[in-house]
Amino acid sequence: MGFKFKPKPTVDREATIEELDRIKETEKMLGKEQKLPPISQMVRNVAVDHWKSLKAFLKGKHVIVPQEVAQQRWDICRQCPHLMYDETNPDTDRKDGRCTECGCFMNVKCHYATAECPIGKWKKFENNEKKA
Ligand code: SF4
Repeated sequence: MGFKFKPKPTVDREATIEELDRIKETEKMLGKEQKLPPISQMVRNVAVDHWKSLKAFLKGKHVIVPQEVAQQRWDICRQCPHLMYDETNPDTDRKDGRCTECGCFMNVKCHYATAECPIGKWKKFENNEKKA
C-alpha cells in the first residue's frame, strides 16, 4: 500500500523586498521583547521574600521600609530597562511596574525591608533594627 499524498514541489524564488522588510521588523520586535521569568521562579521569589519578611518580623526587625527608602528604590526601578509598565497588579488592580528579572510588581516589592534588586541596583534595608 503506497502513499496517496504526493507533495507538490515548491517553486524556488527570491524573497520580495516587502517580505524581507517584514522579517527584519519581526526580528527587531522579538529582540526588544521583554520576557518574564518562568512562573516557578516567580513563585519561588515571592515565597523567599515572604519567608525572609517573616524571619525579620520574628526577630523584631522592620518588615516594611520607611516611605523615603521605598521611593528611592522605586525611582531606581523606574529608570531601569528591566521594568515593564503595562502589567496589572492583582493585589492593587492597577497598572504597575513589573521587573523582568524577578517577575515581581515593584511598586509593592520596594516596600519590603528584606527585598533586594536581583541584579544589585538596590540592597535590602540595612538599618533594620526596630527602635524600642
Ligand atoms: S528590581 Fe532591579 S532589575 Fe528589577 S526593575 Fe528594579 S532596578 Fe531593575
